[in-house]
Amino acid sequence: MASITDIVPPGVVTGDNLLKLLEHARANSYAIPAVNCTSSSTVNSCLEAAAKNNSPVIIQVSNGGGAFMVGKSIKEASSAAAGSVALAYHVRAVAKYYGVPVVLHSDHCAKKLLPWFDGMLEADEEYFAKFGEPLFSSHMLDLSEESDEENIDICVKYFKKMAPMKIWLEMEIGITGGEEDGVNNEDVDPEKLYTTPEQVYSVYEALSKIGPMFSIAAAFGNVHGVYKPGNVKLSPERLLTHQQYTKEKIGSDLERPIFLVMHGGSGSTDDEIKLAVKNGVIKMNIDTDTQWAYWDGTRKFVKDKEAYLQGQIGNPEGDEKPNKKYYDPRAWIRKAEESMCERVAGSMARLGSVGQYPRNTESKGAQLGIEKKTLSPTALVSVGFAAGLVGSFIIGAFSKKK
Ligand SMILES: [Zn+2]
Repeated sequence: MASITDIVPPGVVTGDNLLKLLEHARANSYAIPAVNCTSSSTVNSCLEAAAKNNSPVIIQVSNGGGAFMVGKSIKEASSAAAGSVALAYHVRAVAKYYGVPVVLHSDHCAKKLLPWFDGMLEADEEYFAKFGEPLFSSHMLDLSEESDEENIDICVKYFKKMAPMKIWLEMEIGITGGEEDGVNNEDVDPEKLYTTPEQVYSVYEALSKIGPMFSIAAAFGNVHGVYKPGNVKLSPERLLTHQQYTKEKIGSDLERPIFLVMHGGSGSTDDEIKLAVKNGVIKMNIDTDTQWAYWDGTRKFVKDKEAYLQGQIGNPEGDEKPNKKYYDPRAWIRKAEESMCERVAGSMARLGSVGQYPRNTESKGAQLGIEKKTLSPTALVSVGFAAGLVGSFIIGAFSKKK
């Protein structure tokens, strides 16, 4: 098999390149961590981890993350889409300096949040019209609270809109325990926390007719957030049953024909994660653990430098000594970033993505896209200038004749 660096460029990957990247992950039994980001600082922590570990990375933004990006004082419902788009533009502007593939993804979207999804799709369409690729690589729809029939119907409707732009669709079927983005499944019957092979196949059947770029989050006892262990048993072996069932139904040559994703994996053991990846998980969501890591970096700094953080002036070295270099956000936020970066690196090691993509900053591809349809402002100015020159030459020639 060709090296992934030869077939996928560094920077934001979309369309065919995204498919190639995820096929490479599935074929080589590794998964890519998908980290929820809410700021340029958390984005940079993930990109830093990816660059240092020669790994691809998935940056994802939730509805709440998008709203945070706009600013908490803004209450308009449409602002979450604007914030998500802003985060995507930040990633696109800086990704080239990190030299690894970056997947831009939006996280859980329940039925009541569909206007957010529509807003991001609009931005994708606009971007596509200009640059021939979507702004985001991938979006997630989570209609798992609805009936399976409605869940699949809505996914089909959206996937048809996304397929012409080659945007990946991640969907969820079955119930993931715990609580996330306002969906509370804390008291659900434990047997319901396992998606069946038939449910997974019904999704495959409906979506594969439209295109190959989709993945399924099937519940196998996962819980969103961190809880005391022992309540639910994680059963990643069930994922292989899904693969086998679909393989038989479609007569596929692939051992693992379905792209699976893992949600609610905080607190899972290394063996559980390894088995999930072996059974076709190509993406694992991380949020709770990186939130803690980010805070923990700040916490340690504040504890360590406590005596330097009590006022603008005055510390153990003297009553007149300034403390600016301790309370400057770049000091304490950097500690949060270093700590988060380390936690993301830990996930990359567990998921087997470390070393899969030797960092490459040589390729100077335009991460913000190459405009395809209109001339750039500089080109227009030069055209105008040339026309002006020709014009004055003609005028000059005529005036000489007189
Ligand atoms: Zn989920």
